[in-house]
Parts: sequence; C-alpha cells; structure tokens
Amino acid sequence: MTQAGANDQPRTGTRAQRLAMPLARDVVRQVAAEHGACLRPVQLRRTDIAAGQVEQVLVPCGHTLASVCPPCAERAKTLRAAQCREGWHLDHEPVIEPDQPDEMQRWWIEKRADTQAVWDQADAHGQETTDLDALNSDLDEEITRAGMRGNVLPARPARRHRSTRRRQDAPDLPRRKVDARTVGKTYTARDGTTFRPSLFVTLTCPSYGKVSHDGTPADPGSYDYTRAARDALHFAALFGRFLGHDLQYFAAVEPQRRLAPHIHLAMRGTVSRAELRQVLAATYHQVWWPDTTAVRYDDDGYLPIWHEQSGNYLDPATGELLPSWDDALDAIGAEDEPLHVARFGTRFDAQGVLAGSKDSARCIGYLVKYLTKHVSDCHQADSNAQRAHADRLADALRYEPCSPGCANWLRYGVQPKNPREGLRPGSCKGKAHRREHLGYAGRRVLVSRKWSGKTLADHRADRKAWLMQTLGIPATDPARYAWEPVSPGDPDHMPPARRLLHVVADRITWKQALDEARRRAAAQGPPDLPATGRAA
Ligand SMILES: [Zn+2]
Ligand SMILES: [Zn+2]
Repeated sequence: MTQAGANDQPRTGTRAQRLAMPLARDVVRQVAAEHGACLRPVQLRRTDIAAGQVEQVLVPCGHTLASVCPPCAERAKTLRAAQCREGWHLDHEPVIEPDQPDEMQRWWIEKRADTQAVWDQADAHGQETTDLDALNSDLDEEITRAGMRGNVLPARPARRHRSTRRRQDAPDLPRRKVDARTVGKTYTARDGTTFRPSLFVTLTCPSYGKVSHDGTPADPGSYDYTRAARDALHFAALFGRFLGHDLQYFAAVEPQRRLAPHIHLAMRGTVSRAELRQVLAATYHQVWWPDTTAVRYDDDGYLPIWHEQSGNYLDPATGELLPSWDDALDAIGAEDEPLHVARFGTRFDAQGVLAGSKDSARCIGYLVKYLTKHVSDCHQADSNAQRAHADRLADALRYEPCSPGCANWLRYGVQPKNPREGLRPGSCKGKAHRREHLGYAGRRVLVSRKWSGKTLADHRADRKAWLMQTLGIPATDPARYAWEPVSPGDPDHMPPARRLLHVVADRITWKQALDEARRRAAAQGPPDLPATGRAA
C-alpha cells in the first residue's frame, strides 16, 4: 500500500485560508461519529482454526461515557432503554430456573460431603483438621469451577451483631402480603379492555437547607453539607433498604441540581401512594461507624506513622498503637448513637404508567438520559454560586470516611480496616471523594434479578441476532475462531487513525446492507423491522 505524504500535497491559499480549513483527521472523527462508528476501535486478530486464515477485526471499545466515545455511549444507552422497556410491563413471569446439575457437578458434591463427614469426626475427637480444611477449600473451588453458584455451607456469621431493634423514631414497616408473582396486576375496564399499570417513582434525599432554582443554597452558611455528604456516601445502602420486599425495578441514580443524588425507578406493578409513603417513612440506614466528632490528627506533619513490622499505625508522639478498626467498632457501646442515619426525603413522585404509552417512552427517556455522563457532568456549573456550592460539597466530602478502609479514619485516631503504608487523611483514593462522583460511588443503573429475566449481555445478543437475521448472515460457530489482541509492537498493528478509516468504511457498507434488507422486507409484507434498530 502506498500513501501520499503530507509534503506532497500542493499548498493553496494564504496561511489564514489554510487554517480555516477543517483538519482532515477531525473530519474523520466527525464522520465516524455521524455514522455511529466507535472512535476508539480495538484491534483483534482472528484466526480461522480449521482454514488457518488470519483476519484483522475491529471491535467497538464499548465505553459508556459520551466524553470518551459518543457512539459507544449512545449504543449502551439504547441497550439500557431496551432492557428497561422489556421488563417494565412484562405480562409473563421471567423464567430463572437453574439448570439441572450434571454428572460431574453431582460427583464433586458427593466428594465434598465425604470430606465434610471426615472433618466433623476429626473435629469431634479434637484432632488436627488443617489438611482437611485445605482439602475442603480445594473441593469448594472445584465446585465453583464446575459451574455451580454459591457455597455448600452458609458463610460464617459476621463477627459483630448489632441490635436489629428498630429506631424509636421510625414508624413500622407496613405489613405486606407475600406474593410470589412479579408480574403487575391486570385490571379490566367496563368495556372489557385490560390494562396493566406500572409505576414510575422518583426518590430524593431530605432537605439540607432552602435552595434557589439554580440548585445553590439560599444561605450557604446554614446548608447542612455534612449531612448532604453522608447521605450521598450511603445512598446506595439506603436504596438497598428500600428494596426490602420483592420489588421488581429498573433504577437509575443521578444528581439533582442541588448536587444531591436522587433515583428514578421503573417499578413493575403498582403500590398505592399511601403505602409508598409509609414504606419511605419507615426506611432508614444506620451507619455504625466510629465517632468522627474529634479530629485527632490534622494534616500538617502531625500524622500517625506506619509501623512496617507490625503492620499498624502509631501515634507520632507516644509511639502507641492506634486502635484497630475492629477495636474501634467494639468500643461502640449500647448507648451510643450511629454515626449517621440516612433516610429519603418526604417528597417523592409516583405516577402510574401504561405499557406502550407515550408516558412510558418519556419515562424510559428520563431513566437513561444521563447514563452517558459522569455524575458531576449532568449539571454543568455556569455561575460562581454553583461553582462555590460544588466546592463546598467537595470540601465536606474530603474528610468524610467513605468506607471502613478509608484513609480518613486516621484523622479521627482509628486505623482503617486492612491498613497499609502510605495512607493519608484527606487523600483517600476512594471514588466517592472524587469531584466527578459527588459522594456517590455506587452503580448508576440498578436492575432487579427478575426484571426482564435477562442480563445486559443477553439483551446485546438479542440485538446482534436480530441484525444477523435481517442481513441474512448465518450465525458462525464461536469455536471456529481463535482471537488475540494486537499490540503496538506487532507487524500487523494498525495505528488509530487507520482503524478509524476502516470502521467508517465498515459502517457505510453495513448501513447500505441494512437499508437494502429493510426495503426488501417492506416490499414483501407487513414491516416488522424496527426503524430504530441498531447493531450490538
Ligand atoms: Zn467506542
Ligand atoms: Zn475514603
């Protein structure tokens, strides 16, 4: 292949005229984006094992952020919307029946039962069980490798048992009839038409102080940033509490303009507003962590020292060991209050939505709207007040412990869980402290297990199968090919600019084939190909 060098091209016009011309490479990116082609394709070498033929294949990067790869992020969003749509108004129970165990799986379980019996006997006679322990854990690994989920024995109970006594100030959870169905109730109107409504719910955090329409506090001095920071840090756990009963949901977490997280949920079936209000009032999450009222070690020079031999942090002046994470937890007494109690705000939104309605399409749009953006990019700060508000929240999050392993515990005189060298309060690497996360480090999309009965990979495979069928491409046996990544040092490595040209050409070919297939289908009979269909 010969390529013309840049120097061979004739120069035209003045310098200003030349500068006004778009850069060819920028145009390639733009055209690629317009065609929905990945901007950062990954190169793989595909070998047909039988024929020995080698081919270069470019696969999409699959990134979910539009700031990284807009076409891939858009595709990921479309896939989430499909997942949401499919589960929302489901009219049949999703089948999640585990497969019957095969011979090999039975054999491993029998083996494991044998060694357990021997272990129990040895233990009862006060004999050494180290070898048997090792054998048992080997067998447990084999059991997992043989394609079985979970463990044969329940996990050991946690070291600490907190009182499960409900807080005095939280009303009791409403009693709910246990219903094995996960499909929403069907109603029949007088004229015989049936409909099955579902819910679109938005849950927010409580108020931290009055805010203006731009999301900034009316009085920054009295706005409760500490509470806002802690609620954001524990928002995922609080949502987990809300899901106490067997609820089917597709949920997306995103920030409000005031930068507090809120959650949109598509829920299958309906619950009355009164019942929802009751559940929300009774839902809380207690954080039983050590007290952080007193700052023991501040930034400048006076910080706990790492002691390599014992793997502990020491007081820099006295050389005394700082209490370990477990010791600090044990020191929390029966009379103590939890460090934080997270709750939802009393304001919530719930609306009934019918399958296939305009409303349902609008709500799905809401649910996936911000998924291609970082939490902090959902609302750009345009004013100084907004920037100052974001700064104050980031400040509040800086020293707030994000997890038991957070470096910030040293500030309050406690060793983080599993301590290691180099921890410095205020510099925890936890995602939650980073500006772009606004304190929420959990997953952005949360989907219940029986939502559509499919994983995201299943939904992706559905789309791919649809495309292959539309284009009339026969499915290939995955065992036919061997795949390997191509690294920059390899002779067949393609530089990014060339890859981009290839994927643009591929997309155009494909688009033509798809249009052609649609035309043929339309000519043959009733069209059943969705106009919005996209490749996996
Ligand atoms: Zn991409
Ligand atoms: Zn942290």
